[in-house]
Parts: sequence; C-alpha cells; structure tokens
Amino acid sequence: MTAVLLDGKQLAQTMQAEIAAEVAQLLRVRGLRPGLAAVLVGDNPASQIYVRNKRRACDKVGIASFLHELPANTSESELLTLIARLNVDSTVHGILVQLPLPPHINEATIVDAVAPRKDVDGFSPHSLGLLAAGRPHFLACTPHGILQLLVRNNIPVAGAHVVVIGRSNIVGKPLALILMQKGVDATVTVCHSRSKNLADLTRSADIVVAALGQARFLRADMVRPGAVIVDVGMNRLPDGTLSGDVDFEAVRQTASAITPVPGGVGPMTITMLLYNTLQAAKAN
Ligand code: NDP
Repeated sequence: MTAVLLDGKQLAQTMQAEIAAEVAQLLRVRGLRPGLAAVLVGDNPASQIYVRNKRRACDKVGIASFLHELPANTSESELLTLIARLNVDSTVHGILVQLPLPPHINEATIVDAVAPRKDVDGFSPHSLGLLAAGRPHFLACTPHGILQLLVRNNIPVAGAHVVVIGRSNIVGKPLALILMQKGVDATVTVCHSRSKNLADLTRSADIVVAALGQARFLRADMVRPGAVIVDVGMNRLPDGTLSGDVDFEAVRQTASAITPVPGGVGPMTITMLLYNTLQAAKAN
C-alpha cells in the first residue's frame, strides 16, 4: 500500500479562498476589515520568517496586519504596555505574540495579558479552559488545522482511536481536547516522554499524530497497516533540510494516508490563524 497524501498546501489554499470571500463580505456589508497585530521581540531568524509568512497570508486574504518589532532587550513591562494598548485598539481583532520570547520575559505572563476576545492563537488559559469545559471558542491553530485536514479529507474521526505523541500546550494537549469534544468523538490516547510501550500504543491506533520534535521518530514498525499518519514535526537537519517526526518514506508504504513535511500541517496552522482573526472580527 502507498499512502494517499493529505495535502495541507492545497487545503490551505481552498480555505484561504473561503476566508478571503468572508473578509470581503464583512468589509462590504459592515465596513469592517479584520486586523491582526503581530508582536515580534528580538531577532530570532525562525520567528522572523514565521511572522513574515503570517503577514503575507493576511495580505492575501485581505486581513490588515500590523507588525510591532521590538528589540531583544525590551522589558516585560514595556511588552505588557504594548499588549494593553493592542487590547483596546479597535482596528486590532487578533493579537499574535510570536514565541519564543527572550528568556528575561515570562511567556505565561504575556500570554495571560492578551485579551481573551483577541487570543487568536488560542494559547491562553481562558481559551484552553473553555475547550476543556466543552465550550470551545478560539481553537489553537495547529490542532485545529489537523482536525480540518482529517475532516476535509473524509478521514473518519468519530469513534477512531487517535494516539497523539506529545502533550505540549500548543499542539498535543489542545489537540487531544479537540478530538475528544462531543461531535468530534475520537477516543484519544496522549503519549509523552515518560510513556511506556509507546510502539504498542501507536500500533493500536487508527490515527497517529506525531508532535514530539524528533526527526523520523515514528518508524514503519510502529504503525498498523492502513493507519492514518499526521506529522506535525518540523526539525531542521544538520544539512539544512526540514524533516518531520515521521520516517516518511518507510511509513507511507504501510499507512493509508499521511501528511508530508513540508506541505502538510504547516500551511494549515497559518490558515487557522486567519480563520480565528476573521471570527474575532465578526464577533465585534
Ligand atoms: P514541545 O517540545 O513543546 O513538546 C514535545 C512533546 O513531545 C512533549 O510533550 C514531550 O514529552 C514529547 N516527547 C519528546 N520526546 C518524546 C519521546 N521520545 N517519546 C514520546 N514523547 C516525547 O514541542 P511542540 O509541541 O511545540 O512541537 C512539536 C513539534 O511540532 C516540533 O517539531 C515543532 O517544531 C513542531 N510544530 C509544528 C507546527 C506546525 O505548524 N507544523 C506548529 C508547532 C509545532 P514531555 O512532555 O514528557 O517532555
């Protein structure tokens, strides 16, 4: 068996066209243009690329983007002052603080300072708490993108056993909460670095989501023939190439469907940020 590719690039284009149409309608009917403020502290090259890509995507769908670039020695209180200003700025519907922040700034303090109605990353305890309570508001972008990839490719999720490798607050944990929501109805197992017999668990899965940040970790012998594989990993190899958390060439021979890296989950993450910003503007 050779797996079908779950093409995130293509789906992102389709969904971005849908978002662009809604943005245009919002502008026409209510004179309202959604706006996203991106806050970048320091000169981390990867963060600069992420923010640039997010702003380009905003431009493409007609969302206004405002870039706030601050030097690496910005103090926590200066950053909090900026966030407070953005929280009350009526042209800004979503606030994105690019992580990681410099070590002298407490990330949790900053994430907590973003107004819940502008938390388009879905990282705040407020957004995560609502999700855990079964009243989801802003879904974290990467997990939401994964759900869209599955659903829009007609992968059965209800009743499926999904094994998620990774329990971070931005991927594994919110993904597990999303998949177990009523209406999504997956049976979810969450694994982490202390999990025992990981391969037994992954082999029992209908769907495996690898989100641990270790290149080519998930091998073919850890996957049940016919399983669906979602690769969240983005690992830069010494030769400069990008690798996922899945041994793609081997696993694609046994899986029924698989996301590539790049071109799988990554483009969906940006798309769901645009989606959340649109929702935030519509809620105005
Ligand atoms: P974190 O480092 O925050 O979390 C990694 C998780 O994986 C932890 O829960 C850790 O366990 C677990 N883990 C690590 N090693 C193992 C192991 N050997 N076996 C089982 N579990 C393990 O990473 P993120 O969640 O932020 O990101 C994961 C990957 O996804 C990275 O490659 C990142 O670049 C990528 N990513 C991609 C995005 C996209 O848009 N495509 C967006 C966000 C992330 P423990 O909790 O016990 O330490």
